[in-house]
Amino acid sequence: MPPNGYLSVTGIASAQQYLVATYSSICQLIPLPEASIEGRTIRGLKIAGGEGGDRRGVLLIAGIHARELINPDLLVWFALKLCQAYTANSGLTFGARTYDASSIQLLVNELDLFLLPLANPDGRAFVQLPKGYAMWRKNRNPNPGMPCMGVDLNRNFDFLWSSGIGTSPDSCSDIFKGLGAFSEPEILNVRHFLDTYPNIGYFADVHSYSELILYPWGDDDNQTIDPAMNFQNPTYDGLRGTPGDSLYREYIPQSDLDWYVSTGNRVRDAIAAVRGHTYTVQQAVGLYPTTGTSEDYVYTRHFVDSSKGKVRGFVIETGTEFQPPYSEALRVIEEVSAGLVEFCLACQRTVEETLRGGAASAAR
Ligand SMILES: [Zn+2]
Repeated sequence: MPPNGYLSVTGIASAQQYLVATYSSICQLIPLPEASIEGRTIRGLKIAGGEGGDRRGVLLIAGIHARELINPDLLVWFALKLCQAYTANSGLTFGARTYDASSIQLLVNELDLFLLPLANPDGRAFVQLPKGYAMWRKNRNPNPGMPCMGVDLNRNFDFLWSSGIGTSPDSCSDIFKGLGAFSEPEILNVRHFLDTYPNIGYFADVHSYSELILYPWGDDDNQTIDPAMNFQNPTYDGLRGTPGDSLYREYIPQSDLDWYVSTGNRVRDAIAAVRGHTYTVQQAVGLYPTTGTSEDYVYTRHFVDSSKGKVRGFVIETGTEFQPPYSEALRVIEEVSAGLVEFCLACQRTVEETLRGGAASAAR
């Protein structure tokens, strides 16, 4: 059994209901089209205030991996703190890091903040069941005809899904990628957010653990020189997935790379200010090569279809273990919440962009 204190699946749902009931003028439930494999309803939240149109959207998700218990609690706590502070016109203090009231007003009044606190409720329910398995990672797809249950939802997105890099076709593997890209209902909900709210230009998927802030790409080293050497080019099929060699490196525009590094550093510094834990900002492949992950998928969308806006995504790996005692989880929640406020502020238009007008295109 995991340590006591973490919210149950119904506890997360109740917290979401409480938020929309208590802060109805700025917080609403977002219905999602797909129930979980076991039939649980999955809902998102939207936090937005003020009158401003032409708003940038930020999507924060958590709970894709079942055993990473901190992060759904984190997102509902973050949402609660934001709603409380906005409504009271007060600032927010996380340990030694403070945001003043005007920053919180600005954040809520200028952004559409979307949250999916618990993407994989079936997995969490199994982790928290007395006769469950505390270290379960995947969803609870029975995988008919195969020996084992569950798909790794963070290997099921459509980014080089067929390549096999950092994934497994074996249902018994913890990184089983499923029978096809987007075969799993739980992550169709993530795609639904992006399809339904095209103003979402920024994304973070909160996982555990390792105190990392990861940015694309996950399949191979980055390069900024040759746009034709990219994930869509079949010339390079079979050559990807080995960092450190010269056969293949994934193209990333320099301006995007600069944004990822500078924004990642801002988030890192905000987290560190809370209690001195300095997360490491690095390219995702530095952890290990992966495909089919969320933060790469969201970023591919505008490369695959130029009519879609650019979505820049991070993965944040919180804390130093999957399920710390809840007293420590609360400290992780506090420090990472500062990082998420900072991330949202970084996603807002700069004064310069606002003065130029129509700057939504700058994010595309
Ligand atoms: Zn994870």
